[in-house]
Amino acid sequence: MHKHNFYAGPSILSQYTIKNTAEAVIDFAGTGLSILEVSHRSKEFVAVMEEARALVKELLEVPDGYSVLFLGGGASLQFCMVPFNLLARKAAYMETGTWAVNAIKEARLFGEVDVVASSKDANFNYIPKGFTVPQDADYFHYTSNNTIYGTEIRHDLDAGKVRLVCDMSSDIFSRPVDVSKYDVIYAGAQKNLAPAGATIVIVREDALGHVERPIPTMLDYRTHIKKDSMFNTPPVLPIFSALQTLRWYKEQGGVKELEKRDIAKADLLYEAIDSSRMFEGTVKDHADRSIMNVCFVMKPEYKELEKEFVDFAAARGIVGIKGHRSVGGFRASLYNALPIESVRALVEAMNEFQSSH
Ligand SMILES: *Cc1c(COP(=O)(O)O)cnc(C)c1O
Repeated sequence: MHKHNFYAGPSILSQYTIKNTAEAVIDFAGTGLSILEVSHRSKEFVAVMEEARALVKELLEVPDGYSVLFLGGGASLQFCMVPFNLLARKAAYMETGTWAVNAIKEARLFGEVDVVASSKDANFNYIPKGFTVPQDADYFHYTSNNTIYGTEIRHDLDAGKVRLVCDMSSDIFSRPVDVSKYDVIYAGAQKNLAPAGATIVIVREDALGHVERPIPTMLDYRTHIKKDSMFNTPPVLPIFSALQTLRWYKEQGGVKELEKRDIAKADLLYEAIDSSRMFEGTVKDHADRSIMNVCFVMKPEYKELEKEFVDFAAARGIVGIKGHRSVGGFRASLYNALPIESVRALVEAMNEFQSSH
């Protein structure tokens, strides 16, 4: 039975990505070898890396002066790599969820951290507004999409003359981004790009070299810039899959088109939630609602039916909708590869369940 995959990460990938990856596991680029067993220095894999890098640049219109890296270690390694490379004295952070909290914890190992805004007081169910970023901070870090809580900042923030750093793990490639405003953008691949194991980092080269501390070779962005992400063995398979997704994104019409579809999917689901007598969204301010991760619960009078609905949906091939334990209820992740038909199936299941109770 075909499944409707709403997992938050690792998560749905395009069939194009999965089929081409499966093929390359058997025979990679006509080499007679599996992608699992070729040298990362082979000309065939170097070509994969080069095309993947070029497509990231093309799709996100990355300007000159920036490097695109494919690293290991997940987005979580960037929580320490960013301050290691950029924090000389003080950094400003926005606290909008667990991932931001983790990033703040690492930054504190390297210097003073000014948490300029937080939504912790309401279990991170909104995006703080009206804060100011101290202009003497080395950089300002924020999370554009809060995967666990379903809030999103769908525009580029402005921190004045302070360098901007953004964790875009769960919404990269879901909208056009003005990369020139940022010094570092990073994203784990397993939400909107590829299987787990690779992390994209887009870094402005002249933001580096301003801290005095020694930086371990592997944690120094300059190492990976100099060696085109080939200083050591990169995550070969996830990068191959990432390339397939990037090709598919381009063929679909690029990030503007993906954004249009993502908005249509999210509108459909939020409308069903808002017009329901049984379900309610956990993020009340529509402007703060994520188009990638839609979080909702059952109203108090139906609360005890939550488990039953998960099973009801599963019987219809709908998987991955259980909410994160810190929010409860449901979370439907609507990443780029999820077809709108899957959202329709979920909405139908919600309506049916509601009519039968
Ligand atoms: C999933 C996620 C992370 C953690 O990613 P890892 O690759 O598992 O380290 C960090 N930030 C955000 C916004 C995420 O969604």
